[in-house]
Amino acid sequence: LWGLDTYTTEKELWSELGEVMTASIGPAGENLVRFACIVHGLYMHEKKKLRGGFFGRTGGGAVMGSKKLKAIAIRGNYKIEPVDSGKFIEFRERVVRLAREKLQTLTKYGTSAIMALTNSTGSLPTRYYEGGSFSGYEKIGPEIFNKLYVKKKITCFACPVACGRHSETSGGLEMEGPEYETLFALGPLTYIDELEAILRANDLANRLGLDTITTGNVIAFAMYLAEKKLIKEEWLRFGDGEALVKAVEMIAYRRGLGDILAEGVKRASEKLAAPEYAVHVKGLEFPGYEPRALKGVALAYAVSARGACHLRHVAYRPNLVGAHPFNPEVKVDRLSYDGHVEYVAELEDFHVVVDSMILCKFYCLPIIGPLLWREISEIYYLATGKSVNLVELRRKGEAINNLIRVYNLREGLKKDDDMLPPRIYSEPLKFGASQGQNIDLERFMKMLEEYYRLRGWNSQGKPLPEKLEELGLNEYIRSF
Ligand code: SF4
Repeated sequence: LWGLDTYTTEKELWSELGEVMTASIGPAGENLVRFACIVHGLYMHEKKKLRGGFFGRTGGGAVMGSKKLKAIAIRGNYKIEPVDSGKFIEFRERVVRLAREKLQTLTKYGTSAIMALTNSTGSLPTRYYEGGSFSGYEKIGPEIFNKLYVKKKITCFACPVACGRHSETSGGLEMEGPEYETLFALGPLTYIDELEAILRANDLANRLGLDTITTGNVIAFAMYLAEKKLIKEEWLRFGDGEALVKAVEMIAYRRGLGDILAEGVKRASEKLAAPEYAVHVKGLEFPGYEPRALKGVALAYAVSARGACHLRHVAYRPNLVGAHPFNPEVKVDRLSYDGHVEYVAELEDFHVVVDSMILCKFYCLPIIGPLLWREISEIYYLATGKSVNLVELRRKGEAINNLIRVYNLREGLKKDDDMLPPRIYSEPLKFGASQGQNIDLERFMKMLEEYYRLRGWNSQGKPLPEKLEELGLNEYIRSF
């Protein structure tokens, strides 16, 4: 299997083992590209209109590659029975009804739907973080993408929402996706408004096993440096779809400049002597929400345990819709520095519980999702027979986040790692609906200090002994 792309790998496994679930890597993982992903279920759409998936961020594919582990295939028929099946089914039916009603936009457009909101609010990162709205939006946005390229909707097991998309180019190239994050990273961020090229690059990234968010970021970064003549790569220009497709392949096989870009933006910027232009937090590149236009997201990216991630907190949502995630009567002003700290911490505690229970992020999307604290506590009870009240559930989330913090501190995390990249403070957005917005360093530091206080951490971001004791984490008090 070594050397095969992810589609062929899965096909080979199916032909040898029959219908199995697989997790595999492509050439990018084999070549230890630091943002290689783990891919699964690419052919499930043919079977039951089910979607596959890409464990994209933070380089799990490179970990498999380093162990020479190409793929895992499993088959199973063990049934898991909830403690109270009858009530569980009733509950499930209620949630499914609500999901159908509340997540209609996802059903209609898929995840690309949110681009309408990020573009109109000037929070769609464009031209490697120079602006926040994209002049080519109409050519790549949700309307045109769904109309011209989506072949069918695909879904996760038993979900009526079907937010996944199976697409096809005019040349007959079929693929899973692209999702919003891929569209943003391979489109506006690289200033490319040719959907065909974006789809081809998405397909290549899927086949070669690359995280599309980092892939788009690192290519856009190289385009930015080439334009400034800081690297001699004249072929790599903003807006050039062919250059994008070529660069994806060079990265996966570590050819030429691709060998440097395969290290991710942080390391590549050091090798190219341009760290001041690199956009990342803790080495993880930004997803599709511009923090200068969404001040709550600025804090959330900065303190997120694995770097600039949108899924640890989903803080973009309250910023974009202007309402507190758990108390919609309270307004959230995306351009103000006030009122973000408390809900960012609660969102982090909430989502770490959501992830621990392996629930869909969209069902748990505050304000519109049908599963919030109360419903999650109900699921826990119906599935296990153990009751956990809302206060206890939140406390579990807080304990997990503190444990992650302790782990990161032990591994050398410093307060400086909770900072945004320099351009976000010094360079206001040059164009778009949030033109002129930046992050004021002094006000940002106030948010950060308030966040540390609320978390029960000291001024250096270290959990205080009494906080660890309160959370039952006494054994870690002297571990960092
Ligand atoms: S379970 Fe969630 S991610 Fe999967 S199709 Fe449904 S809404 Fe989309």
